[in-house]
Amino acid sequence: MQSKELSEALSTIIPPDRVLIDDATLTEYSSDMTETPPARPDAVVKAHTRDEIVSLVRFANENRVPLIPAVARTNLGGLCLPDHGGVIVDLTEMRRIIEVNENEMYALIEPGVTFGDISAYLKEKHPSIRFGYPLSPPYTSVCANCICDGLANLSMRHGAMSEWVNGMEVVLPSGEVIVTGAGAVSPVWFGHAPIPDLDGLIFSWQGTTGIVTKMAVQLWPNLPLRKRMFLLVGTHIDAFNLMRRFCRTMMFDDIGGMTWPTGKMLFGIKRPAGKDPTEPGAFVYLDFSGNIPEEIDCKLKMVRTVLARARAEGVKSEDPIMLEDIVKLNERFAKFAEFPTTLDFLLDHGGGGLTWVGTYGPTAAWDEAANRAEQIMAKHGFAPTMVLRPMKGGHFGVFRVITIFDKKDAAETERVRQCNRELGRMALDLGFVIYKTPAWAVEMMLERMNPETHALMKRIKKLLDPNNIMNPGKWKLS
Ligand SMILES: Cc1cc2nc3c(=O)[nH]c(=O)nc-3n(C[C@H](O)[C@H](O)[C@H](O)COP(=O)(O)OP(=O)(O)OC[C@H]3O[C@@H](n4cnc5c(N)ncnc54)[C@H](O)[C@@H]3O)c2cc1C
Repeated sequence: MQSKELSEALSTIIPPDRVLIDDATLTEYSSDMTETPPARPDAVVKAHTRDEIVSLVRFANENRVPLIPAVARTNLGGLCLPDHGGVIVDLTEMRRIIEVNENEMYALIEPGVTFGDISAYLKEKHPSIRFGYPLSPPYTSVCANCICDGLANLSMRHGAMSEWVNGMEVVLPSGEVIVTGAGAVSPVWFGHAPIPDLDGLIFSWQGTTGIVTKMAVQLWPNLPLRKRMFLLVGTHIDAFNLMRRFCRTMMFDDIGGMTWPTGKMLFGIKRPAGKDPTEPGAFVYLDFSGNIPEEIDCKLKMVRTVLARARAEGVKSEDPIMLEDIVKLNERFAKFAEFPTTLDFLLDHGGGGLTWVGTYGPTAAWDEAANRAEQIMAKHGFAPTMVLRPMKGGHFGVFRVITIFDKKDAAETERVRQCNRELGRMALDLGFVIYKTPAWAVEMMLERMNPETHALMKRIKKLLDPNNIMNPGKWKLS
């Protein structure tokens, strides 16, 4: 369908001022921060209601027009770029927090609600409960990050964000509207059991199986006292050793490790090239909370105990530095005082390019993965910027290798592509699985995926979306 004809047809469903086909808009939606080649949509629509989405889906089926759901488009995997043209369904203006249930501790939200929105809302109206926040900017979508199996600063306790979801309202590619979880039966969306778990038809499917129009996400008590501290550690291996030990105490809300380039960027160096051998190789941050000062003191004592034991076995680490003290030394660290936050050193470095190989996998393989990643990054001329986090009490961990680059520099962009592929292959070899899986990584994962699993994914896709209208091309489902 020609752009003008498409726009006229869409304008019978969505008011014309929310149907966009101008060059500037289509160009803006044609690329993201990553090295993924640009791909242009035919139109962008700003949806406001579930019923508009139902009508859009019906129209898309009749006319075989692809629909790509999107909010802030910061997934860093090219997941909102249209592989076959079509219409970007921009959900940023579906932004209502419909309900907060303090007793059952969940929020029922629309898909455009951002981490910034939910944080401000809870602070003002429900200060006794809290949510968890990723390191992504405050304007990114809660619902999208849950759909993508993302991680946040309570993932150490509660796992990937899909595990924080109690249920959803979903417009299927057929135009039917289903509700998953307890909310399918009860007016209280208290959990996703005890009915067959249909949430799995949405999580990590990259918008290929339906459009979520409501989501119930879990909240937790907001304990009155909180401590955040940093440890400067000799090497990344020492850092991982410490993180595993801290994890087993079961007392932290969040534990993270970052290699030296992140520390340097925090201190204002735009693209750190190398480090002095006397400088720390990594830093670890620890986050915990408590009800009374004695509980905090006890946890502080435990931090010192774990550290002393690790040092006795050769781990090199400075004493913990409290966030409030480090902020006095360098106010840039104030970014870590409160989430959600904007890590401007990843976004405003001048080149515009940001990409990563983000994986979940065995924490036992962290040392080897980080050593190999360091070599691969050096070979391609990038600093070894890595973020690692234990997840779900340490049952698995995040291993993420980040690259900032100049998008205008074609040679550098190509080096990033090669580097990510090598990193991806290496991580898969060590048992990690790539999340928010970009197209290049899907190919690698399919080489290893149980073939019956992929065959079943294709059958489910065919059943739900026989005309292949939803984000076609992703996960190689047709
Ligand atoms: C500096 C920086 C730091 C980051 N840190 C983190 C981090 O700590 N943890 C983390 O997990 N991520 C992180 N990210 C990645 C990203 O920001 C998050 O994944 C973010 O929450 C995604 O939200 P979004 O609004 O950009 O989603 P989008 O990119 O718009 O969408 C993501 C995917 O979900 C699909 N989708 C979106 N809405 C719907 C819907 N309603 N129904 C069906 N499908 C839908 C889209 O089609 C797409 O496949 C970071 C990104 C940046 C730039």
